[in-house]
Amino acid sequence: MAMNNPMMTDTSISNILATLNGKSKPISQILALKSMYLHLAIMLIISVFSTNLVAQVDITYYLPDIEYDPAIPTPKSVIGHQVGEWHISHDKLVQYMEKLAASSDRIIIQEYARSHENRPLLNLIITAPKNLARIDEIKDIHRKLCTPNEADQVNTADEPIVVYQGYSIHGNESSGVNASMLVAYYLAAGQSPEVLNKLENGIFIIDPAYNPDGINRFASWVNSHKSKHLVSDPADREYTEAYPRGRTNHYWFDLNRDWLLLSHPESQGRIKVFHDWKPNILTDHHEMNTNSTFFFQPGIPSRTNPNTPQRNQDLTEEIGHFHAHALDSINSLYYTKSSFDDYYYGKGSTYPDANACVGILFEQASSRGHLQESVNGLLSFPFTIRNQVVTSLSTQDAAISKRQEMLDYQRIFYKNNIKDGKNSIIRGWLYTDVDAYKLKRYNEIMLAHQLEIYPITKDMRSNGKLYKANESYFIPMEQIQSKMAKTIFEKVRTFPDSLFYDVSAWTMPLAFDLQYSEVNKGDKSRLELGKRMIDAQSLKGKLYPEDKTYAYIFDWNQYKSANALLAIQDAGLITKMIHKEIDVDVTKKGEKQNMHFGRGSIIVPLQNQNKTGNEIQNILSQLAQENDLNIFALSTGITKSNMTLGNPDVATLYRPNVMVIVGDGTSSYDAGEIWHTMDQKLGYPLTKMETRDISSTSLKRYNTIVMAHGWYGSLDKDQVENISNWIRQGNTLITVRGGTDWAAKKDLIDLKRYKGQTGKDTEDEYQPYEVHPVRRGAGVIGGAIFETKMDLTHPLSYGYDDDILPVFHRGTNIYHTTNNPYATPLKYTASPILSGYIPRGFDTKIANQAALTVHKLGSGRVIAFQDNPNFRGYWYGGTKQFYNAVFFGAEISSRTMEPK
Ligand SMILES: [Zn+2]
Repeated sequence: MAMNNPMMTDTSISNILATLNGKSKPISQILALKSMYLHLAIMLIISVFSTNLVAQVDITYYLPDIEYDPAIPTPKSVIGHQVGEWHISHDKLVQYMEKLAASSDRIIIQEYARSHENRPLLNLIITAPKNLARIDEIKDIHRKLCTPNEADQVNTADEPIVVYQGYSIHGNESSGVNASMLVAYYLAAGQSPEVLNKLENGIFIIDPAYNPDGINRFASWVNSHKSKHLVSDPADREYTEAYPRGRTNHYWFDLNRDWLLLSHPESQGRIKVFHDWKPNILTDHHEMNTNSTFFFQPGIPSRTNPNTPQRNQDLTEEIGHFHAHALDSINSLYYTKSSFDDYYYGKGSTYPDANACVGILFEQASSRGHLQESVNGLLSFPFTIRNQVVTSLSTQDAAISKRQEMLDYQRIFYKNNIKDGKNSIIRGWLYTDVDAYKLKRYNEIMLAHQLEIYPITKDMRSNGKLYKANESYFIPMEQIQSKMAKTIFEKVRTFPDSLFYDVSAWTMPLAFDLQYSEVNKGDKSRLELGKRMIDAQSLKGKLYPEDKTYAYIFDWNQYKSANALLAIQDAGLITKMIHKEIDVDVTKKGEKQNMHFGRGSIIVPLQNQNKTGNEIQNILSQLAQENDLNIFALSTGITKSNMTLGNPDVATLYRPNVMVIVGDGTSSYDAGEIWHTMDQKLGYPLTKMETRDISSTSLKRYNTIVMAHGWYGSLDKDQVENISNWIRQGNTLITVRGGTDWAAKKDLIDLKRYKGQTGKDTEDEYQPYEVHPVRRGAGVIGGAIFETKMDLTHPLSYGYDDDILPVFHRGTNIYHTTNNPYATPLKYTASPILSGYIPRGFDTKIANQAALTVHKLGSGRVIAFQDNPNFRGYWYGGTKQFYNAVFFGAEISSRTMEPK
């Protein structure tokens, strides 16, 4: 690509040095210094002169020197500064994109979602006006290509390629989002034959800001710390963002792990657009550490997910040649293949690979703020933006050049999927759950990924488990989305490589703790299937009244039972909970029926409430509908079991007053998951308290504190004592992972660490230097799924009907079970690894050890989790256990706890 412009090497080190040589005398003396000092001294001098150099950049620095339509507004004419001079705020970005779209006949702009902070997520669909005039028709033809029995009707020689270009899913990697304005301007205003050819043969969907909330948080930080005379010292506050930093979204989640899990509106909206358009190339523009250069995929070949076809990786590499040539032309350093993986389908550059598309990751060395010293010289913000612009344009070049080849690849990909499904040993998966809401949410995610789902119409037994008609579902392997089905359901235990950039397992029915079975050929012939599911069925929760009501009852085995309990407590009503299973008579469809209620079921008596019977009935009736929950009236306190409702063993519950500790020394991801669970899922207004604000008085209003994963190094001796005293007064501390390690280390709990080797490199014999990173990485558990066994009679297990619970495990810490035989309600099983990579022998070490323990401290308690029960907002199987700790923690008998 021709990048003919006079400004483009202005910030390169050689030019800066040449400028200095001409102007300043000291450079000759500096050259005499030792190399380290030389480096530092040059840095200092450069930083003095650099302000002007950065300010000089104009639009020709970024874009090819071609004719641009003067009627189309440049970014500067709308946002009021040259791109790169400031970090764009999301509001200004939206303002520009709307102006641009309004002034161009090449653009349709659409909002596809709103972020948690109510910012619009935008797509600009940019193509030739004559394509725009028949855009729906083009989309229909393109989608036919993905439907094997219609695909041969499409002549790929005639159809445009669809390219989805997206930016800055990590909000503090902002060269991408700032580049997006220039990329969109280039396509909207460019008049060269090259641009016109792109528009004629391509549909370009520009997604300027994958993560609006994070982008805005970061822009606000760096802009507010920018000096008039740019400071390039990495120690400046501009480059050391405060907790929780701008990488993540509003709830501090990494959106670049959410493409598969769909916990957030940003991803939910984007996946809809993805499947609406079925792009051929999708790009994901990131940043990495300041001292690196520029990376583009392919990543390390052995770390590509085996479900991704080799042809995908070949195409990625062929496209890479276009990036290489483009970066050559502006003298930018780059690399490929030697880092980053393409393994986890929850990432933006990997999800497309299971969907007939080629996903491409770009990583630019980050200037973080406006100008930062690096081993490669001064790294200016405009320089980083330019690399993103140049590779955005080279992606378009590659797309046009490989247009027909990629359309053909898309067609054959789906045909092969059907074929692979037909030949697969596993014919599909059968699943069900007693929790109707959880099952509905699971189906919604499956449908979002375009999987075919069929309800079964006849009861079916598989692997010794009963699947009831119309309450169980089947996802076949023989379908166009067979690769997605496989990666969602499969348990993976063999790996070509032992290093993972992220998790090594995500088996979703395990995360949801569903009852599920693989279906083989013989089983499949016994299946009777209903009509393909189009929408996840909405459930109808209901209150079943009695003529004369004594109390109300609902089971705890539903995901949203906790929402109802909280709302009842907020209404000021007395709530009770049963520790024993009971059978009672209820009235259903006009007749008395026996109904079984499990441990943890909630009772709302009519006695001594602050509301009338009618008011209570209205409240509960509304809650039943809102929470997909069945609530039953009871006409008597007598049950068919050996218990009455006024029994002293029926616990009275109190509304939890909960706080989570955040800030210095905590993991923002893990604390964010607690915040997200409590706020978004439970509807609880959770206080997030900074570690520095912990004092004896600040803790008084809470009866429950959550310490998520973290290090807590900033808590001083007095603060530790405050927490300890607060527990002793009868309160509940819930600790997770690092929080548990901290409590053990600070002697709040008596928990014995497993002392043997836990997969760490033993270095027992001489090893070649080069194997060190591999051996070290092989000892790490980035994330795998383990099987645990629960004591179903323990309050922390109430609401579960099956004693096997999959957990998501990270790290190699192991703790022994407690001395008190009742204080470890959850243990890893004898052969616990279910899915994912672990170091050799680790599973035998963790076998039968503690996964969840309960400790007594004074009149209070510490509930200590080894694994994160709310992992990434999609670990629906663990949420109830966490809710149990919050709502029932105070109900655990102190004699069953591990004493201190
Ligand atoms: Zn990133």
